[in-house]
Amino acid sequence: MSRKIFNSILLAVFFVLFTSVAVITGVMYRHLTGEQLEQLRNETNLTVQGVILNGEEYLRDLDNAGFRVTWIVEDGTILYDNAASLEQMENHLERREIRDALEKGYGESERYSPTLSEKQLYVARKLPDGTVIRLSITQATVWNLFLRFLIPVTGIIAGAVVLSFILASRLSKRIVEPLNRMDLDAPLENAGDEAYAEIRPLLKKLDDQHKQIQKDREELEKASLIRQEFTANASHELKTPLHVISGYAELLENGMVRNEDIPMFAGKILSEAKRMSKLTEDIIDLSSLDGGGPGMVQERTDLWRISRNAVESLESEAEEAGVTFVLSGENAYVSGVPHVLYSIVYNLCDNAVKYSRKGGVITVTTKNDGDHAILSVSDNGIGIPPEDLDRIFERFYRVDKSHSNEVGGTGLGLSIVKHAAKLHGAVIDVKSDLGSGTVFTLTFPKGEES
Ligand code: ADP
Repeated sequence: MSRKIFNSILLAVFFVLFTSVAVITGVMYRHLTGEQLEQLRNETNLTVQGVILNGEEYLRDLDNAGFRVTWIVEDGTILYDNAASLEQMENHLERREIRDALEKGYGESERYSPTLSEKQLYVARKLPDGTVIRLSITQATVWNLFLRFLIPVTGIIAGAVVLSFILASRLSKRIVEPLNRMDLDAPLENAGDEAYAEIRPLLKKLDDQHKQIQKDREELEKASLIRQEFTANASHELKTPLHVISGYAELLENGMVRNEDIPMFAGKILSEAKRMSKLTEDIIDLSSLDGGGPGMVQERTDLWRISRNAVESLESEAEEAGVTFVLSGENAYVSGVPHVLYSIVYNLCDNAVKYSRKGGVITVTTKNDGDHAILSVSDNGIGIPPEDLDRIFERFYRVDKSHSNEVGGTGLGLSIVKHAAKLHGAVIDVKSDLGSGTVFTLTFPKGEES
């Protein structure tokens, strides 16, 4: 970066230098030409007066080292010239300044040498006897002047290069230094510093990005920790029924079980196998919801119909537990993934059955409330202690693990509900009275109803 700044400064210095020399030469040249012309006019007037008074004598006595003087007769022939022999000089009638002087009494003109390195300025004035006195001066052209300046200018440029080199390298270091000093982890820390005033918006952007990266990193770390915990918990949960199954199977294999006990052992193996299969299903459900349920297509779905299906499929469990389902409310349409919505109602109803007492009543209600559809599952079961309410949606969290195991819980049901609700933008509310019952209420946005 400092190399780039250095080059830019150097380039700018060269540009300014050359432009300045060109402009100064131009201005000086104009000024010089104006001065010389004025002088030439005055000298011409003086010479004319001198010739009127003293004739050619005056011209001969004239010490006109700086000017060329020519005296021309009306027909263009030369009477006198102080710079060339008369024989070599051609007729001057066609010269512009002579023509003008003969016609109007006064004429001026300028002509360039064939090499364009020199320019002649001419001033001519007519005398009362009809002859013309012309004075001329040789002047360098602006290009010539520039070339003459070139040697000193080259010297100046060489000096300027050295100076620019030193200046540019110091300047570029000074510009880059605060950037090098900057703490990228806390870019706004030095923002009050005057050196950073102009790059404050950049620092702010850097700081925002830094914070975002930090946040993303923390979230990633958290997600990875949750995943690790989940894998550890899942393997532990799977290992328990597996141990029970293999233990009972071993007893059976070794003939250590009496014939009349075989159905009891087989029943235990079956129930543990069912637990394992429920756990695997829940894990699959959860992982398919992870990351927002990619690839799942939402469609207009009636929560009431979904609730009826869930209640119907849990009817036999309810009967076994001695509880009754009551389905009430109305059709409530939401935009959602039917099988995911089903898993919400199923898990809530399944829990209500598992954590109810004999004779309990479970009420499932669906209704509409403006832009929202509401699903609630209430029971008059054992309830949840207030201190556990915040944690019941965590994976594998159970208020009473042995009770949950007894009733075939996996600890994943409410976690699935939480993720499934999130997928639909639904808000979950839980109200519970220990010993009296629990109400889960989910408020869904209706979305676009077709
Ligand atoms: P589980 O498979 O153990 O039921 P969940 O994730 O579905 O796991 O629920 C977590 C815990 O929340 C349960 O173990 C239970 O202690 C409590 N819980 C959930 N629903 C109810 C309910 N309706 N009544 C009482 N306790 C409940």
